[in-house]
Amino acid sequence: MTSPLWTRDRTPADTTSIEPGTHHDVIVVGAGITGLSTAVLLAEAGVDVAVVDSGDVGGGATGASVGMASLLQGTTLATLRQHHPASLVRAYVESNRAGQEWLAERVGAAADRRTAFTFGRGLATDTALDAVRDAAREAGLDVREDAPDELGGRTPVRALALDDQLALDPVQLVDSLARAAVDAGATLHTGSRVTDVHALPAGRVDTAQGPLLGDTVVLATGTPITRRGLYDLKTRALRSWAIAFELEGDAAAPGGMWSEVGVDGRSVVAAPSSLGRSALIVTGARHPVGSARSEVALAEELAAWARRTLPVGVEIARWSGQDYQSHNLVPFVGGMPRGLGRLRFATGYAGWGLTNAPAAAMRLSDEIRGVSRGDRPHWMRTIGTRMTVPADLGRGIGEASRRVGVVAGALTSAVPAPAKRPAEGAGVVARRGLRTASVSTVEGRTRAVVAPAPFTWNDAERSWDSPVDGSRFAPDGTRLEGAASADLDVRGAVG
Ligand SMILES: Cc1cc2nc3c(=O)[nH]c(=O)nc-3n(C[C@H](O)[C@H](O)[C@H](O)COP(=O)(O)OP(=O)(O)OC[C@H]3O[C@@H](n4cnc5c(N)ncnc54)[C@H](O)[C@@H]3O)c2cc1C
Repeated sequence: MTSPLWTRDRTPADTTSIEPGTHHDVIVVGAGITGLSTAVLLAEAGVDVAVVDSGDVGGGATGASVGMASLLQGTTLATLRQHHPASLVRAYVESNRAGQEWLAERVGAAADRRTAFTFGRGLATDTALDAVRDAAREAGLDVREDAPDELGGRTPVRALALDDQLALDPVQLVDSLARAAVDAGATLHTGSRVTDVHALPAGRVDTAQGPLLGDTVVLATGTPITRRGLYDLKTRALRSWAIAFELEGDAAAPGGMWSEVGVDGRSVVAAPSSLGRSALIVTGARHPVGSARSEVALAEELAAWARRTLPVGVEIARWSGQDYQSHNLVPFVGGMPRGLGRLRFATGYAGWGLTNAPAAAMRLSDEIRGVSRGDRPHWMRTIGTRMTVPADLGRGIGEASRRVGVVAGALTSAVPAPAKRPAEGAGVVARRGLRTASVSTVEGRTRAVVAPAPFTWNDAERSWDSPVDGSRFAPDGTRLEGAASADLDVRGAVG
């Protein structure tokens, strides 16, 4: 199994058990960077907030991130500009700048100021880099051409540089946000999964410990844990790997944060000084959840790339996580359809939540507190009026047919039921007619879980991952993350 480099000695915020039926002005579901930034902003403005998380603070994508709070963001700005007017890309950058500045105030000296680079190797990447440079400059970022030899010098590199970005420890960050929220009067409940969300007759969330009532419920759960609005269909769930290494011999850690031009979003960053130990972290192997034949193989490829191209020594940690990309490439933030103004949410940061999430929190907080439109910043008004354009629908349709293809492939390659007991650590999909069961053996126990569509076995995390909505489940059917809010049924437990 895997765990992030960051998970170590922590000073947790005080958490309390749920008193069923308690009413708060706002209930925030999710203690990642979105939920905690929202809670801090609201609690410091005098709003009575409760934060509920099924796990620990930062136990989702936030704790899996590699800590780059950057406005350059790889090739994101060029991709956005291909699909949207310059005014929207500028507003996107402004929103991320607001998020980054807010973070910088909160974390102070715990973040390192670093130069962010988007780099490519060779002529083939020139066009992509030109597009990034043009989109970034048009959006008001002062990018320059600069490629210091920091990555071991094993291959030639062209790079675009943006100074004064932040490298931080994401777990330290969320721990400090959780403490700030509690200090400002918020209540924190960890280890309590929300199983259902209601807007009528009032805002309510159900947990195993009982319900909590709120005038507003904010779903800061990565992807919303309700089918309302069908956001699992309007976003792509993308999983990535991160691996931390010691530096090779007396190699110096790169001073910058490096993101490579390319489809799988590879980045290289040295651990921030607040971690207290040196490490070089690579992240990448980005792919739709449930689409990998072998997650172990993807992680191995990333590790091999790092060993081939970077001055790395012994591997010290490896982990994976998932994030969501909206089909229109801009985060979805605000009121949920048919939520009567009582349900709000934020999702779709496309791998750059450390700056997008605080911006989303500002928007959620302004909307909940009733700040008038005219008093909101320019970027909030501009992004708020965006429209769905035919290209977004096209991307949605493309994604839907990809999912159908993966499911059809899984049905074709399923073995006839009853399946032979899988080897330790393995999983197979067994099929009878159109019905499937996902059978795995972990720690000597063979179990089958049933679901409407087949899952993909994740051989690294030992989980069942859904190619349809990005939800993930443990071998015993317990929901781990994603759009699903309920566990799966277990059938035919053996051993
Ligand atoms: C490998 C990797 C590296 C990354 N690196 C970067 C980076 O360098 N820079 C950057 O900007 N972004 C990065 N990202 C993206 C960034 O991590 C995310 O965009 C961001 O953390 C999303 O934050 P969030 O609060 O919305 O979601 P999360 O952090 O996932 O928080 C959601 C929370 O909701 C809780 N939850 C979910 N369902 C329920 C439920 N039913 N009941 C109760 N609680 C629930 C979860 O336990 C979780 O704590 C990276 C992502 C990955 C996977």
